[in-house]
Parts: sequence; structure tokens; C-alpha cells
Amino acid sequence: MTSFDTELKERLVRYCAIDSQSNMDSPSAPSTECQHDMLDLMVRELTEIGASDVTKTHYGTVIATIPGTAPGPTIGFLAHVDTAPQFNATGVRPRVVEGYNGGTITYPDDPKLVLTPEDFPYLASKVGHDIVTASGLTLLGADDKAGVAIIMTAMRHLLETPEIKRPTIRVAFTPDEEIGRGVDERLPADLGVDFAYTFDGGDLGEVTYETFSADFAVVSVTGVSIHPGWAKNKLVNAIHLASRIVETLPQVTMTPETTDGTDGFIHAVDMQGSAARMELRFILRDFERDGLEAKGALLRQVCATVAATEPRAEITCTITPQYRNMRYWLETDMTPVDLARAALSDLGIEELSVPIRGGTDGSRLTEMGVPCPNLFTGMQNVHGPLEWVSVQDMAAATRLCLRIAERAAEA
Ligand SMILES: [Zn+2]
Repeated sequence: MTSFDTELKERLVRYCAIDSQSNMDSPSAPSTECQHDMLDLMVRELTEIGASDVTKTHYGTVIATIPGTAPGPTIGFLAHVDTAPQFNATGVRPRVVEGYNGGTITYPDDPKLVLTPEDFPYLASKVGHDIVTASGLTLLGADDKAGVAIIMTAMRHLLETPEIKRPTIRVAFTPDEEIGRGVDERLPADLGVDFAYTFDGGDLGEVTYETFSADFAVVSVTGVSIHPGWAKNKLVNAIHLASRIVETLPQVTMTPETTDGTDGFIHAVDMQGSAARMELRFILRDFERDGLEAKGALLRQVCATVAATEPRAEITCTITPQYRNMRYWLETDMTPVDLARAALSDLGIEELSVPIRGGTDGSRLTEMGVPCPNLFTGMQNVHGPLEWVSVQDMAAATRLCLRIAERAAEA
């Protein structure tokens, strides 16, 4: 079997060193100028490997075609080029721990930081693997540059090996996934595929077709502002009312820190303002539509209850949908999931299907009519300084990508 280790290692190190962090507070698309460095590199590298129709769209997504050598459904492979805004992503210095010996991994730029197999049992199962980490001061960005490297390596191999039967493949590298803006409304039409896969998952064997359903809520509290010296019986302090809303919401249940498995939550993510006006932001998550609706109803009810205690204040609660559990669409047609499962089994890799407590670009795409499960890359401890990935896990994902293409042509 072809070993892709060297190519994957080189690609990952090259991509991770490029700063392409997205920014929630920026209104532009892509949200940061620096993401163009990765996107333009993708245009160059896709052209170099001989892909056709290489295009950077107005909304920043890079799309290309790998022409088919056999009939079959048109398949999309996607990964995102941005890295998470939650941790320093500037000046990433990736390094490779060759042939991991099973011990503690230390970091050149932060002597206090350690990655141990005791804390992270998955690492204990990777003895002998080549482990890529950052240097201690930044995240690595394997999320999702591991996905980018996997797709690029698989497509390079397909273009050089036309005897492997494959249907037409479309590749897309998206910006701004980490801030929930990775899927432009024009993407499904521009992509033009029967179904697609994101390579944006974790452990070896992961095939995800179930994600959270997600809403975003903004609560605004407007009090009555007046000079405190003349405020008696007149001033209505928005800070007190906003605090009461937070205090009335569940604290020991229904929060991210008190739930796991299939339980959803209401998460207070931001609170800003003054005595005159406060704004609170929440994310609502649940695997089921009715569970999500119930969380929205609870938040509205708490707002209404607090509002009733102070008629002079104005409290509004605006809830907007973000994405929905991809299972609702995939369960009506499991073709892409079954294809990935069969390809995994061909490779002798055990399938791991766990609902993920989050969303992917595939959640939105699926909802927009492009069924799009998520596949493993090997990435671990993402969005922080202990992020790492095994090159051999990435090689297994590369073989999965190739096997999916081959099987689709056989079908
Ligand atoms: Zn990701």
C-alpha cells in the first residue's frame, strides 16, 4: 500500500505555519485578510497537481474539479482553511515528534506545558506514530489543515494514478468555518455534487452524521437612565435586570459544563452594556428540534418573568437559527454514510459513529440539500496549545478518501 506519510507531514507543517485565523467580529467575507494566504496557496497547489476549473469564488471558497475516469455520482470533498479564534494562532511553529515513544511530550517555547498519555489516552495508542504539535505558544491548526492536507494528498495521488477508477470529484476549501460562516448560500450550486464529505473529524474511524441543532439568542435589556442623585423611584438599572435573567436560568443543569452525551444546553456566551442598556448573548444547543425549541421557550419565559417585575424596563429576546442536526436529512438517504462505512470496512478500520456536540460546514450543506457527513482526520485537543495529530491517522484518512472515490465508481 502507498505510504502518504512524508507528503502529509510536509503539507501539514507548511499549512500550519500560515496564519489563517478567522474573526467573529469582522463583517467581511472572508472575515480576515490573512485567510487569503491559505486560499491562494490552495489555488496554486491545486493547479500544480493538475486539477481543472480551479476557482476562488467571490465569497473566498476555493473550488476545483478532479475529472472522473468512470461513471458514478459526483462527490465533493471539503475542508476549512481557517483556524479557531479562541487561542493564539499567529507564528505557529509546527514540529514533528518522529516515532513517538509513548512518553511525555514537552514544548520548546513553554517549558511548563506537557502532553501526556495519562491525560490523553488516545495518545497512548499512537506509539510509533509521527506526532505533529505546535511549539507551546499557539494552537497547531490541524483543525482543519489536517483535512486540507488529506484531500490535497488524495487528489494528487488520483491525478497521478488514472488507473484508479473514480467518478468526477469536486474539492472545496472554505474560509470562516470556525465562526459559523463557512457555507455561502451560493456554495451548493457552485459545488454541483450529489453528496459530499468534510474531513474535519477527530479519532480514527469517525464517521459523523449526527450533529447538534443550534440557535443563537440575543437578549436586550433597556432600563431607565437618570442621574443617580435624583434617581429615587425613577432609575431602572439594566445591569440588575440582566443579572436576574442570568441567575434565573438553570445553573446546575442545561449548561455546557453540566451536560454531555445527547443532552442540550443554554450557554451564556457574552454580556455587555451599562446601567442604561445591557445585551446578553446565548447559544442554544440540542440534538432534537423540540428540545431546541423548549430551550428557546425557557429563555423567553425567563425574560418575560423578569420583565413582569419591572414594567418600566424593556426586555426583548431574539432567537435566530444557526444550523440543524444533519441526521434529519441523512436518515432519509444514507447513501453517503453507507459508502463511507463500506470504504472503512474495506480498509479494516473500525467505524466510530458518535453524535458530535457541535456543527460542521456539513450541517449547513446538508440542510441546503447537499448531504454531507463528516470524516475523521486524527486531530486532537483542537483550539488550544496541546493540539496534535498523528501523521499515520491522516494517512488512514487519505486512504479512506481514495477508497470512497473508488467504491463510488464501482457502484
Ligand atoms: Zn474544524
